[in-house]
Amino acid sequence: KAKAEGRSGFVTFSPSILSQIDMQLGEEAAIKRALNCDEFFLVWQPQFELATGRMTGAEALVRWRDAVSGAVRPPASFIPIAERSDLILELDKVVLGKACMQAAKWMPISAEEFICSVNVSGKSLQAYAYLTHLTEMLQQTGLPPSRLQLEITEGIFIQDSRNALESIRKIREIGVSLALDDFGSGYASFGYLADFNLNQLKIDRSFLGDLASSTRKQNVVRGIIALANSLGLTVVAEGVENEAQLDFLIHEHCHGAQGFFMSEPVEERLMTNYLIARQGRAKHIEKFRLSPF
Ligand code: C2E
Ligand code: MG
Ligand code: MG
Ligand code: MG
Repeated sequence: KAKAEGRSGFVTFSPSILSQIDMQLGEEAAIKRALNCDEFFLVWQPQFELATGRMTGAEALVRWRDAVSGAVRPPASFIPIAERSDLILELDKVVLGKACMQAAKWMPISAEEFICSVNVSGKSLQAYAYLTHLTEMLQQTGLPPSRLQLEITEGIFIQDSRNALESIRKIREIGVSLALDDFGSGYASFGYLADFNLNQLKIDRSFLGDLASSTRKQNVVRGIIALANSLGLTVVAEGVENEAQLDFLIHEHCHGAQGFFMSEPVEERLMTNYLIARQGRAKHIEKFRLSPF
C-alpha cells in the first residue's frame, strides 16, 4: 500500500516504511531469481469420489525449494508477495506448464476421468498472456482440455473485472473445467453462481474444522452441497482430516473430498505410484487412504 501511495507522490516515507519496502524488494528479487533457477516444483494432492472411492483427480500445489538453504517453502510464504508484484503472472505460467506436462505423462496410467487441477490467481486470470499460455501448453503437451481444471477464488468476482469474467468464458470455451476454490470463505455475492458456467464448488476447509461439534456448521455444509446440486455443479470438500468428517460427507452425498486423512500433497513420483497401484483395480469401493504398494 505504501508503495502505491508512494508512486502518486503523496507519502513521505518514514524509516520503518522504507525498510518494509526494502524487505519486499528483497523478497521479490528472490522470487525472480528462483524463477530463473527453476526452484519451484509441484506437489499433488489426490481427490476422491466419495460414492466409489475412486481417485478422480489431483490438485497441483506449488513449492519452492530454496537452493541455498535447501528448505522447502510453502505457498503462503511467497504467493502473497508474488501477487503484490507482477511475478505471480510468471509463477502461475510456470506452474501451469509443469502441471500440463505432468498430467500428460499420467494419461496412459490414469482413467479418462482423472483430472488435474491447477490454482490460478485473479491477476493471472485477467492477463491475456495466461490464456495464450494455456492454449499453447495444451497443444505442446497434447493434454486434452477435458483433463484439466483451473481453480479460481471468489476474489475475482468481487473485483468485478471484465477481463477476468471474459477469461472465464474463454476457458470454458477451450473445454477446460473451472472450480471455485475456498467457497464460503470470501465475501462475494451469490449472483455470479448464476452468471458463470463453473463446474465445481470446493467447500473451504474452515467449514470442516469443528464439524462434529457444530450442528450449525453441518447445516451450512448441507446447504452448500444442496446449492451445488441445484446448479449442476460437483462439490468437493477440502481439508478432510479425520474419519468422522469423511463419514459425514459420504452420508450427505458430497461428491468428492481431499485432505490429509486420505493423503497429504505428495511429490510426483509418489503420485505416479498411487496411479500405478490403482490402475488394475476393479472400479468398486476402494480404500480412501492411499498406500502406493
Ligand atoms: P488451496 O488451493 O485451497 O489448497 C489447499 C491447501 O490446503 C493446500 O495448502 C493444502 O496443502 C492444504 N490442505 C490440504 N488438505 C488439508 C487438510 O486436511 N488439512 C489442512 N489443514 N490443510 C490441508 P498449500 O499447498 O500450503 O497451499 C495454500 C494455498 O496457496 C492454496 O490453497 C492456493 O490458494 C495457493 N496456491 C498453491 N499453489 C498455487 C499455485 O500454483 N498458484 C497460485 N496462484 N496459488 C497457489
Ligand atoms: Mg486450490
Ligand atoms: Mg481451497
Ligand atoms: Mg485455500
